[in-house]
Amino acid sequence: MADIPMAETETFAFQAEINQLLSLIINTFYSNKEIFLRELISNSSDALDKIRFEGLTDKSKLDAQSELFIRIVPDKVNKTLSVIDSGIGMTKTDLVNNLGTIARSGTKEFMEALQAGADVSMIGQFGVGFYSAYLVAEKVIVTTKHNDDEQYVWESQAGGSFTVSRDVNGEPLGRGTKITLFLKDDQLEYLEDRRLKDLVKKHSEFISYPIYLLTEKTTEKEISDDEDEEAKKEKEGEVEEIDEDKDNKGKKKKVKEVTHEWELVNKQKPIWLRKPEEISKEEYASFYKSLTNDWEDHLAVKHFSVEGQLEFQAILFVPKRAPFDLFDTRKKMNNIKLYVRRVFIMDNCEELIPEYLGFVKGVVDSDDLPLNISREMLQQNKILKVIRKNLVKKCIEMFNEIAENKEDYAKFYDAFSKNIKLGIHEDSQNRAKLADLLRYYSNKSGDEMTSLKDYVTRMKEGQKEIYYITGESKKAVENSPFLERLKKKGYEVLFMVDAIDEYAVNQLKEYDGKKLVSATKEGLKLEEESEEEKKKREEKKKSFENLCKTIKEILGDKVEKVVVSDRIVDSPCVLVTGEYGWTANMERIMKAQALRDNSMSAYMASKKTMEINPDNGIVEELRKRAEVDKNDKSVKDLVLLLYETALLTSGFSLEDPNTFAARIHRMLKLGLSIEDDENAEDDADMPTIEEAGNEESKMEEVD
Ligand code: ADP
Repeated sequence: MADIPMAETETFAFQAEINQLLSLIINTFYSNKEIFLRELISNSSDALDKIRFEGLTDKSKLDAQSELFIRIVPDKVNKTLSVIDSGIGMTKTDLVNNLGTIARSGTKEFMEALQAGADVSMIGQFGVGFYSAYLVAEKVIVTTKHNDDEQYVWESQAGGSFTVSRDVNGEPLGRGTKITLFLKDDQLEYLEDRRLKDLVKKHSEFISYPIYLLTEKTTEKEISDDEDEEAKKEKEGEVEEIDEDKDNKGKKKKVKEVTHEWELVNKQKPIWLRKPEEISKEEYASFYKSLTNDWEDHLAVKHFSVEGQLEFQAILFVPKRAPFDLFDTRKKMNNIKLYVRRVFIMDNCEELIPEYLGFVKGVVDSDDLPLNISREMLQQNKILKVIRKNLVKKCIEMFNEIAENKEDYAKFYDAFSKNIKLGIHEDSQNRAKLADLLRYYSNKSGDEMTSLKDYVTRMKEGQKEIYYITGESKKAVENSPFLERLKKKGYEVLFMVDAIDEYAVNQLKEYDGKKLVSATKEGLKLEEESEEEKKKREEKKKSFENLCKTIKEILGDKVEKVVVSDRIVDSPCVLVTGEYGWTANMERIMKAQALRDNSMSAYMASKKTMEINPDNGIVEELRKRAEVDKNDKSVKDLVLLLYETALLTSGFSLEDPNTFAARIHRMLKLGLSIEDDENAEDDADMPTIEEAGNEESKMEEVD
């Protein structure tokens, strides 16, 4: 070999996280090593998809190798297993980037998952499947040829680095990739035909390219001695003498002859072309797994075909869990593969399904689209619009089917409720149907969530609206002062505690003809009791009119107006927001968004109305004092303190927590009868409340 020129070999260091991942794969004990084959086959299948797609618009791309295949070659002599594909291949840059120097976002997540006890078979979901080769191999060689570059070889025994060099001596691939695993001594089972066939059947049956296995066939043959000599020369090492007839020297003998042949090991008839009633649950599960790399079965499946003016077949799946990067905005999720008359066209066809259904996985095979359709054409394609409409309809049907089983639906809702709510926000056409899928806790739902439909069946006689409250958590809202009167009157209030609820409910507006009304916003009108009670209330309201004015004067721009409340029973006051503006919760959510557009907040930011409770002792005492002297300092202090506490109980954040704390501390000192020390001068600008709390009984009420 010395006379053949050697190509320059470059050495690269693995990116740090990839290196860590490799050590983890090599040094940790996993029994489920067999998944490596599925991962390599799946990569091959992706590479084949890519070249097939390129070939649709430019046939010459397939020239170097027109057959699209995957081949598995076990070599017992050298203890290697190779997976060869005629896919798109990799250029030198691809090799360096894809296999070692650029870590995928999933690398770290996968390691964390592994350390938290996840199974190694999840690797494919995190986009680092290639490295699973090191579960069984001590060394891996990747030979690859891309149309745009020479043939290159990548080699690594892990250990921190890999090499890349031009393949000057190797057998030309034409186009594609060959991955050769040098198996560890305890992993030689992956050289056995039987084992390999079973594995392909188990994990890769539905790959839509033929997978061939190079199998060994041993036949017994009688030959004469002379022939034997020739055979030995021709097939060195492959002919083994088994029964030499010593008496009949030079005449005949039996030999074992080993021949190799390609055996097709996967069925390729697409499952979606078969009749649903003939497909078992296991078959769907196995197809789902091969489609998605998921290690668990699907939660639900919908297999259907549409016929008539437009024809297509589809299988849609709902997974059991949300993927780790469900709402990763860098990555547009879309898991529907588009086929045209059995030919794979593309994944991630954005026009096929709305973003909020990005978690639904499956295939669509259209009879009507042109084979050479490009992404640009897809955007205006009418056929695609019809397919999309049908897919959304079928998805919603499928979700409703899941809802028939409580346990399954709980899983579904836990994983994908945000998507449904996003759908309500975005998909006006299906909003009403999606609303049926919503579930919320309420003050009457107990441990289970309730649907809007069930809420409606429980509505009190005369109740015309659906009440809800938004907030940070169930705990934060269930004892909110806003619910006092609603609860007292026996109304059910839905707890909307997901940030996205705010957006969804703003779009939803009503359900089943009933308006959705926020308990924390203006416009909450509870139907009055009797005429007599109503009159009494009106009178009471009148007597507090002056106090309302005084409070507004004291608070100034902090509040829009001050009114007597219908919604609180025990608390002294609450801060209500405008019917069309943000709630306190929304304000909190918007403040948390680092990149928000500030211009919005100017007019959406909550305009607060203070509602006071005329039946509350503190408020009554305030009224009395204000009557005597509305400039009384204690009145001012108490109003400010009430305002600040109401900010908190109403879900806002304090503008100035230190002033608030100083006020509270002053009250504590007063309560504990501690004389103010010299430090008092430090907070000289702080309002004094000595006079305010002359009587201790008042202190307790504030508490
Ligand atoms: P994933 O396949 O999820 O992207 P992998 O770690 O398995 O992640 O592979 C990394 C990348 O290496 C792939 O995205 C692909 O670009 C490239 N690659 C791997 N195997 C092949 C192959 N057989 N043919 C062409 N490219 C491949």
